[in-house]
Amino acid sequence: MACMSPSQPPPAERIRQNLAQVRERVAAATRRAGREANEVTLVGVTKYVEPPVARLLVEAGLTQLAESRPQELWNKATALADLNITWHLIGHLQRNKVRRTLPLVTCIHSADSLRLLEEISREGVAQNRNTDVLLEINISGEAAKHGLAPSEVGSLLPRIAELPQLCVRGLMSMASLEGGPEEARRNFAALRELREKLGPDCPANVALRELSMGMSGDFEIAIEQGATIVRVGSALFEGVP
Ligand SMILES: *Cc1c(COP(=O)(O)O)cnc(C)c1O
Repeated sequence: MACMSPSQPPPAERIRQNLAQVRERVAAATRRAGREANEVTLVGVTKYVEPPVARLLVEAGLTQLAESRPQELWNKATALADLNITWHLIGHLQRNKVRRTLPLVTCIHSADSLRLLEEISREGVAQNRNTDVLLEINISGEAAKHGLAPSEVGSLLPRIAELPQLCVRGLMSMASLEGGPEEARRNFAALRELREKLGPDCPANVALRELSMGMSGDFEIAIEQGATIVRVGSALFEGVP
């Protein structure tokens, strides 16, 4: 491993600086959008770093963390079990991994099929555990992306609403990878409009309050378009070896 240059702050310091900068950018975008500061939650995505580095982020003050792979979430949750962390799962969840994942997570952002929702509910009943979920929507329509088609969500909602031990809190999406900022803006606006369209027909126990959208490259655009949760990874670990 290369020596750290003398001008390079140690990882803990660098992470504190990165977190302060990201929080400032979140706050500035929220103000620009005319929204209240407490309307947007920052979730730190730790998938690029080992548990000791993720620990530094918690020590710097960010306790809402996310992983995209269930197995990596299990590893980190175990390694950091002494800390008070709220875990979010933001990547595809195979049904055979639901049982081990449920006790560790507060919110699953990546509920992308009725079969998965049924399994989360079934396991939730077995474990007597309620799970918050967001419905992942493939808003850009890219074939490689997971997520429900925007056109199918409305007809699924009544069935989802009947599933016990599961609470639908909102929608999640990722912007098109190649489209650039204008395409991202269109994608985020489309997710917000979908929520508004579904709102009046929502079953009574489904409240689509949350919009989980925006990552390091586009979270400011997402906030302008109504994001209530931004999922930021690389910007928090910039310059950390
Ligand atoms: C990796 C990932 C993020 C964070 O990405 P960055 O660009 O590193 O901020 C957010 N959401 C999901 C679903 C991811 O997989």
